[in-house]
Amino acid sequence: MIDILYLIAAICFILALQGLSSAETSRAGNLFGIFGMAFACLAVYLSIDTSDMWFVISAIAIGGSIGVLIAKKVSMTALPQMVAGFHSLVGLAAVLIAFAACFAPALFHIVGENGIYKSSLIEMGLGASIGAITFTGSFIAFLKLQGTYKGHYIPLIANAVIAVLILGLLASFIYTENVQLFVVLTLLSLVFGATLIIPIGGADMPVVVSMLNSYSGWAASGIGFTLQNDLLIITGALVGASGAILSYIMCKGMNRSLFDVIFTSGVYSSASNKSAEIKPFKQGAAEDAAFILKNASSVIIVPGYGMATSQAQHALKELGDILKKNGTTVRYAIHPVAGRMPGHMNVLLAEANVPYEDVFELDEINRDFATCDVAYVVGANDVTNPAAKNDPTSPIYGMPILEVEKAKTVLFLKRSMGTGYAGVDNELFYEQNTMMLLGDAKKMTEAIIKAM
Ligand code: NDP
Repeated sequence: MIDILYLIAAICFILALQGLSSAETSRAGNLFGIFGMAFACLAVYLSIDTSDMWFVISAIAIGGSIGVLIAKKVSMTALPQMVAGFHSLVGLAAVLIAFAACFAPALFHIVGENGIYKSSLIEMGLGASIGAITFTGSFIAFLKLQGTYKGHYIPLIANAVIAVLILGLLASFIYTENVQLFVVLTLLSLVFGATLIIPIGGADMPVVVSMLNSYSGWAASGIGFTLQNDLLIITGALVGASGAILSYIMCKGMNRSLFDVIFTSGVYSSASNKSAEIKPFKQGAAEDAAFILKNASSVIIVPGYGMATSQAQHALKELGDILKKNGTTVRYAIHPVAGRMPGHMNVLLAEANVPYEDVFELDEINRDFATCDVAYVVGANDVTNPAAKNDPTSPIYGMPILEVEKAKTVLFLKRSMGTGYAGVDNELFYEQNTMMLLGDAKKMTEAIIKAM
């Protein structure tokens, strides 16, 4: 009965992932995820000793209440940090279970005549090590996404030495079964998680978040072997594999290799902290923008992180509808790393009921900027920055960008001449065909609607 429930839950999780891969089927995917989790919980209830029931129920009640509180409180813009925080907890759980198994192996039925089984030692060692790396790595990612910590330079060689030490400790622990080695292995992995993520900066953070997602899955899967829990093994592997594939896709989107992101992005580059020079630029008002938009026959809207912070998506939809009524072609261009999490812009536009057929990915629309009248850039910055093409010293060099500069007119909505996430000045602000519309993106868009 329990095995059948686990199987149903695993199938639901696979269908959930499949559903979540497209906007049209994402609601169904979400429902499959909920059902899968419900079946999984039911199977756990059926498999535990009734004397432990209250312990489990209280743990779920306390954890569940904290989860509900956090989910209710968190703002849309803070979701990436929240996800990083949750990955961190998965890593911590894996470490705690590995410790429990190491110090009380009999309870986990992993001891034979010659001590703890070798396979269990491998699972515990890997689970604790990957879990510890995920725990501190995700915590640093949380601080970076929250903006409370910027990062420091750490030489690649230092990380290479720690990695070799970890592998050596892991092998010795498996060979000797020495508990002290296990503790040192975990402590060093905690340090490695931090030193690995501290130097990664600028445009590479999205890949880091999805990579940590993948690590948390592998840690859970490893621990699933120790607990002899098939569902944890399957679910962990699903998370691990999907996170790894997502990291690969994002790397491709940013024209970086995964190796470069993890090991050579030790560029907490000084360029990323350069303060912007003051150069002449053209500033417009809502009325100017309304005039330009009224006369445009095609407009491409480029949303970025600023749309999320100002919650401008509903105003944008309204502006799009007015323009369409005016006979203008309106499309939305989404960069793979716009905003602060994968799919951030798609979610917000869907919330405002922007039709899916108006929303295009970078590859599908980039060529069309050359023939469009207005690129309406709403709180996006790095994803439009030509430095990614022209300046090999820039921390975002190599990342494909939305080529808004090719449009006849670029309307840039942001509050100041300041930089975006990667901390790099954007030369587009000073171009002849650019008009800066300085102010909150939502308020400015509403003012333009009023002027129209
Ligand atoms: P950026 O961070 O480059 O730029 C956002 C711009 O929005 C800022 O320059 C800011 O300028 C402006 N802004 C902020 N608030 C408002 C507001 N209320 N009204 C109007 N403008 C506002 O964002 P992009 O989306 O262009 O690029 C995403 C960046 O984030 C990339 O560097 C990416 O690598 C990184 N990243 C992406 C993740 C992902 O998964 N998508 C995860 C982590 C990082 P001002 O202050 O002047 O208003």
